[in-house]
Amino acid sequence: MSKGLNYKYFHKLLQKKREEVLEEIRDLEPKVEENPLETGEESTPFPTHIADVSDIESRRDRDSYMISQYTQDLKDIDAALQRIVDKTYGICVDCEGEINKERLKAISYTRYCKSCAENREKTNWKKAEF
Ligand SMILES: [Zn+2]
Repeated sequence: MSKGLNYKYFHKLLQKKREEVLEEIRDLEPKVEENPLETGEESTPFPTHIADVSDIESRRDRDSYMISQYTQDLKDIDAALQRIVDKTYGICVDCEGEINKERLKAISYTRYCKSCAENREKTNWKKAEF
């Protein structure tokens, strides 16, 4: 049950964050799906310069990457909203300790308390080293 956490406040915070992330995805998506064939009658089916192709591709790669990042954020936000419903929000999934309120305000969809998050970072870093 709630341990002095204002669920309503964090619910609102998560909803707002969710809207922002959705907005970012909406902004990025048309660019990724843009079809040069449909931009106008005069456009040629193939870009005329190699540079154009790589420009378009690198921009698409970046946009796709951003979208996958935002999609992951969205999943985390939805999971956090579900934890509010389950009344487990604000509890670290690793150590089951309470997550600091200030940390929740900063990263409303975090699953981990500060020390667990730091431990995970260290572990990931070690994994990346070897
Ligand atoms: Zn923890």
